[in-house]
Amino acid sequence: MLAVENLHASYGAVQVLHGIDLEVRQGEIVTLLGANGAGKSTLLKTIFGAPAVKAGSIAFCGKPLKGLLSHHVADLGIAHSPEGRRIMPKMTVLENLQIGAFLSDPKHFQDDLKKVFRLFPRLEERSWQRAGTMSGGEQQMLAIGRALMQRPRLLLLDEPSLGLAPLVIRLIFDAIQKINQEDGITVLLVEQNAAMALSIADRGYVLQTGRVVHAGDAEVLASQPEIRNAYLEGMTAP
Ligand code: ATP
Repeated sequence: MLAVENLHASYGAVQVLHGIDLEVRQGEIVTLLGANGAGKSTLLKTIFGAPAVKAGSIAFCGKPLKGLLSHHVADLGIAHSPEGRRIMPKMTVLENLQIGAFLSDPKHFQDDLKKVFRLFPRLEERSWQRAGTMSGGEQQMLAIGRALMQRPRLLLLDEPSLGLAPLVIRLIFDAIQKINQEDGITVLLVEQNAAMALSIADRGYVLQTGRVVHAGDAEVLASQPEIRNAYLEGMTAP
């Protein structure tokens, strides 16, 4: 579904991705792990065209993404829930979800809204609350809900566990599994919480300074001593 080949990307003169090869197959949850600054968020951003692909290629269902504007990428069926959530703090929960649906056919709006509210009942209870006054966990639910309102085939999630308590992380990860298993949405999940991510993923990639240093089945990665020592020590799936 998503094929990244020999991808190079940079911010100005600073090269961040140095020849990434990565594949996400339809129906999978694939996780992208690595230390701070490894280039995980940059890879997701490159899918949406900023920073631009300097060399190599990204294709979605066989269609090259290089040079497309971000709304054209979204139109193809890719949604991005970015690091830090980036919700509209002064707008209500419902208005944020309406923004997510902006590119979708309005005839789906009510059904899609019901689906998001079934996944995160808290959002329905708080639909008139200003998004910026919600807790971190609720804001994360909203960021995912907003991305789902776009009706994606591929959902890019950037650090959904960031700053959240273990119980809330469990709830968010259960929701990601439901989105994948019940709605058939393919997921590319960037995470610092490697233990949690590998516990729900089919496969994973580990990035180090813009290069893939490990790749494989999630269970195998989770059992490899060098990965356990570098990324899983002290981390447990709550
Ligand atoms: P983290 O988990 O900390 O978010 P990451 O693996 O997602 O890390 P990136 O955010 O992709 O890493 O950052 C990779 C490198 O690119 C870092 O050295 C970072 O400073 C640099 N970088 C990221 N965004 C920009 C930008 N807009 N301009 C210049 N450099 C940037």
